[in-house]
Amino acid sequence: MRILIVGKLNDIIELSGAASIMIRSSSQAVDVDALSIEKIMRAPPEVETLGYDRIFYPDNIERIETPRQLAETVTDLMNKNDYIYIIAPSTKLFKESLAYAGQKLQIPIIPDVSQIEAGPGRHIFMRTIMAGRVRSYETPLNKAIILIGLGRFRGGRFSEKKTSFVPIKISVDTSFRIIEKREKARGAVRLEEADIIISVGRGFRSKDDLKLAFELADLLRGQVGCSRPIAADLKWLPEEHWIGLSGKKVRPKLYIALGISGQPQHIAGILESRVIVAVNKDPNAPIFKNADYGIVGDLYEFIPKFSEKIKEILGVK
Ligand SMILES: Cc1cc2nc3c(=O)[nH]c(=O)nc-3n(C[C@H](O)[C@H](O)[C@H](O)COP(=O)(O)OP(=O)(O)OC[C@H]3O[C@@H](n4cnc5c(N)ncnc54)[C@H](O)[C@@H]3O)c2cc1C
Repeated sequence: MRILIVGKLNDIIELSGAASIMIRSSSQAVDVDALSIEKIMRAPPEVETLGYDRIFYPDNIERIETPRQLAETVTDLMNKNDYIYIIAPSTKLFKESLAYAGQKLQIPIIPDVSQIEAGPGRHIFMRTIMAGRVRSYETPLNKAIILIGLGRFRGGRFSEKKTSFVPIKISVDTSFRIIEKREKARGAVRLEEADIIISVGRGFRSKDDLKLAFELADLLRGQVGCSRPIAADLKWLPEEHWIGLSGKKVRPKLYIALGISGQPQHIAGILESRVIVAVNKDPNAPIFKNADYGIVGDLYEFIPKFSEKIKEILGVK
């Protein structure tokens, strides 16, 4: 049995945790390959020792850039190696490109998986559906593409195998031409890995006021998330901050929701948080039903007082 894990090097490290579960729960020998979407100049030691059989990487380009290129590369590797599962992060790039690959290969795709269990002679993949209200346990009868939410697994060594790094030629996508690349407005946000998230909603009166949340996040060494209107309608923050059903699914130790009403589509992204704190001036806001701690009050009064207390505890001026 062979598995292919696809992603950036960080993802290949993290998803080795999923490979490890598959190997432990499988009655057959499992070989695990990976496809790095970025060129590898020299073998990184933290990847080399995990136990991958082969790690493929693009040789003729710096990075597999487009969904079509990725879909074709994965389809080609699948046709040559007959993988039982293709595993990748459940992010936009992989959802789009691997849906296309799944269609070409005529195999199903299970997105947003957050847990893997071993069933009798098969694997069971768990994901939440219906805005987080229902857990769906799915088991493919044959080959499948599995997309896993980042932050679900800790990477680690899963076999003693010596890894070979295999350069491959990627076919150039001539359907369009990149004319310019621009840096995103803020630094890379990896909300899926954050332990503390300060999340902002429409309770904020202006874009400028979001600095209150960024200052609090800096103080707590957390990251800033947001509800959909903040990213999609008001465009106060880039999409990578957006949490919920159509945004990112997060699982921090502490989630502080400031001025977020708590509609099911937002809750769907935060259900796996360990502790949820909600600040809302409306005592009937639905967020309180899902919060471990609720503060009925004005976020503009709460944030300065809370920050002051944290500074006192941390001994920060
Ligand atoms: C198909 C679909 C997918 C969606 N996906 C997502 C998604 O992924 N993520 C997401 O977030 N939403 C999503 N939505 C939108 C969702 O339904 C809500 O509209 C959205 O979550 C509301 O955002 P909000 O809580 O910031 O704003 P609001 O619902 O307007 O809530 C603002 C809250 O702030 C409180 N408030 C106001 N002023 C203050 C103050 N000074 N201090 C304290 N509290 C204050 C108010 O009492 C209110 O509860 C989706 C909707 C659809 C239809």
